[in-house]
Amino acid sequence: MRVLLVAPPGAGKGTQATRISARYAIPHISSGDVLRSHIERGTAIGREVQRFVAKGDLVPDEIVISTLAEPVLEAAESGGYVLDGFPRNAHQARMAYDLAEPLGIEVQHVVALEVPRDELLRRLRTRAQVEGRVDDTDEVIEHRLELDEAGSADLLAYYDERGILSRVDGTGAPDAVSERLWAVLDAIAERAGARQP
Ligand code: ADP
Repeated sequence: MRVLLVAPPGAGKGTQATRISARYAIPHISSGDVLRSHIERGTAIGREVQRFVAKGDLVPDEIVISTLAEPVLEAAESGGYVLDGFPRNAHQARMAYDLAEPLGIEVQHVVALEVPRDELLRRLRTRAQVEGRVDDTDEVIEHRLELDEAGSADLLAYYDERGILSRVDGTGAPDAVSERLWAVLDAIAERAGARQP
């Protein structure tokens, strides 16, 4: 099963993607984690993307795609993936489709987690105190939310047109959100022939 989780910063993508990964036995690939790992390891790519990530700006498409191509291909060959953080706008989605479709590894279903802006801000500020991510300062948080709003409407419209989009309420306790996800994804997993939970 090849799933994409789309959600604004602070919506709980990471938490829910980890749970999806466990339930359907598919690897979780997060573009943000992949980029942060490059930065931590001090690779050439890490040095290149550092300033974008610290400011909350989008890393250039070619770089993001080049870092994700291998893990996504590898995961798809062994049963699927749950991807989060990429694509972030319709332009990236079209680029990804053009690369993935000929290989038969394009996304099969997209779940959009929906959380109101004031709740996102509250969660991100709490996380900033706990985790201390460089991009969790008030100014950068605002910028990331704005970039997300700018890209996500077109992104979701694109997947809606392809008939593979489900919108899920991302408010409330993590377990309640997961239950809403299973209501959508169990059926998709069955159709995709994924391992049953
Ligand atoms: P969040 O969703 O909270 O912003 P992520 O971990 O998904 O956090 O992303 C962190 C940062 O990594 C982004 O602000 C951006 O700089 C970079 N990034 C992640 N995914 C992409 C992408 N698909 N395209 C461009 N930049 C990206």
